[in-house]
Amino acid sequence: MSDQELHPDPPTVPEQFGTSPDAPVLSTAPMTERELDEAKRYGHISLACDLCDRIIDITYLAIAAFVLAGPIDAWLARSEWLAGPNSYGRLALLIVVIYLLHMAVSLPLTFFSGHVIEHRFGLSNQSVGRWIRKYALRHTLGLALAVVLYIALFWIIWHMGSWWWIIAAVAFFGVGMLLSQLAPVLIMPLFYKVTRLEDDDALRNRFAQLADGTGLAIEGVYRLGLSDETSKANAMLAGLGRTRRVLLGDTLLDKFSPEELDVILAHEIGHHVHRHIVKLLLIGALVSFVGFWLCDRLLVAATGTNDYVQIPTTALPLVMLALTVFTMVLEPLQNAISRFFERQSDRYAMERTGDAEAYRGAFQKLARQNKADPNPHPLEVFLFHSHPPIAERIKAVDHCYLQSTEVEY
Ligand SMILES: [Zn+2]
Repeated sequence: MSDQELHPDPPTVPEQFGTSPDAPVLSTAPMTERELDEAKRYGHISLACDLCDRIIDITYLAIAAFVLAGPIDAWLARSEWLAGPNSYGRLALLIVVIYLLHMAVSLPLTFFSGHVIEHRFGLSNQSVGRWIRKYALRHTLGLALAVVLYIALFWIIWHMGSWWWIIAAVAFFGVGMLLSQLAPVLIMPLFYKVTRLEDDDALRNRFAQLADGTGLAIEGVYRLGLSDETSKANAMLAGLGRTRRVLLGDTLLDKFSPEELDVILAHEIGHHVHRHIVKLLLIGALVSFVGFWLCDRLLVAATGTNDYVQIPTTALPLVMLALTVFTMVLEPLQNAISRFFERQSDRYAMERTGDAEAYRGAFQKLARQNKADPNPHPLEVFLFHSHPPIAERIKAVDHCYLQSTEVEY
């Protein structure tokens, strides 16, 4: 189940890094034929799961919109306190029912891709019990957020008339800002152990030097406890203003050389310096204007009314479906922007560290750890990847240094 209906994902800039527990010493050499083959298989299965998940999402929401919504709504309306038009109680219960059914139909695939496959490829050390606890927590939060946001959306539709889509887009931007601010301090610690990087003075000094002059305090660098559940490593920039921080997975901190860690940190600092989180929020706002406007046109066409108070609660899954399809259609564009930002940060990391060897080493390790196919099919990259392929990122360093050599001469 993808949470892409109305949830304004707090924009973070997560990376796609990752560790093989059975590789005792992580090599910085290019991947072997066997490793490449395994990475390709993992990539293909992950892609197939992702595509199936999307098909399930669309099919389920279409069935919910055109078949289930009416009978469920009518059944709920039999209760006296849920009857009548514009009932927020009935709307809330409809959101809960649609969400829970969606979870149920997606569960087998979610478990297969998130647990079975990860174990099969030696990328997870998470027990079934722990997986269930995280899954329950994630969806408890997701459901609570969905109830609040869709009730707010319908309040806006019912009260603001034909201008609702503008107000909804502005509100959506506000919620995005708020969630971005809260994500690293309130949400992430619910899922992972997050601790300030305090014990390693040598590392702190290196990081302080790298972050010097960028407005990012070393106090903002955190250790993210990923190793309890995955061997994949990851790093990200998250938060806004005072909650701005860089989170480095323990799987990364424990397996990378200080020089390679510098490259990763410099890359995250690059996201900070180029203001990528705010840019992503603004792009999201622009996109949501279009998305809500299209939703408006669809609602008017589907319900046959211009009187927005008359829009029934049964329109809920149709709104969910429209926003999901719209998000999916725009994904290649969003991914292209994201890959552009990643290249900017990669370039920043190269220039800031000036260590081509460590840069190459870091990315070779990341590919190996993640079992990431360094060279996926270009169409797959175009449609689904938020990060450039690792082979391309490594090649960029050669290009960068060739260019600077040319300038010198
Ligand atoms: Zn990045």
